[in-house]
Amino acid sequence: MDRTPESYFDALYETDADLERVAECLREAGMRDISVAAGYGRLLTLLVSASGAVNALEIGALGGYSGICLARGLPAKGKLVSLELQSEYAELAKANLTAAGHGDKVEYLVGEAAANLRQLKESGASFDFFFIDADKENYPLYLEACLELANPGAIIAADNTLLRGKTIDPAKQGPSVQALRQFNLTIARDARLQGVHLPAYDGLALARVKAGAD
Ligand code: SAM
Repeated sequence: MDRTPESYFDALYETDADLERVAECLREAGMRDISVAAGYGRLLTLLVSASGAVNALEIGALGGYSGICLARGLPAKGKLVSLELQSEYAELAKANLTAAGHGDKVEYLVGEAAANLRQLKESGASFDFFFIDADKENYPLYLEACLELANPGAIIAADNTLLRGKTIDPAKQGPSVQALRQFNLTIARDARLQGVHLPAYDGLALARVKAGAD
């Protein structure tokens, strides 16, 4: 049987021209499509809208797939800041968000995310929702930066917490694996967070930044 639980559920949903455009652009540009899965994207939209987030921050834009999903959950006055290392990816993502009708909601900051996170902190910016999906070695650093930029009650989501099984394999000890193990432990144990790990897709972490009274 060719059908998987993922393909069964995906087939229930209407075709999504804006997200298909992203996949098509990545193909045309010869870029690897490492965007979040369709169901994952729907979850991001739902979480952003259910949390009432107005300002969202994404780390890792690629072609704008998750950016569209995040922007869809924001209200009309909402803003998405997206950090992307490669200027050509940021341009592609911007074009795709614009084609999807969300161009006025999004700002791309090009360069090393760590440097842009420091600048955002210096500028006094703060966010209600974070999506971490960039270089894995820096996940612990990104999580700490998100905590510094978080409004009370903010939601943090992160992709690839399983690293295709490497995170749970004791034989794997590379820098990305070690970083993800540290990241996952922080999500589970840090007193500032209420966290949960879901073994869906390549592993998904979600956390709420506790408010002072929690
Ligand atoms: N979130 C995207 C989506 O689902 O549509 C996919 C993001 S892809 C998995 C990871 C992205 O992170 C790539 O576009 C890559 O260029 C970017 N990236 C990698 N290292 C980075 C860094 N140090 N700073 C900012 N972006 C980085």
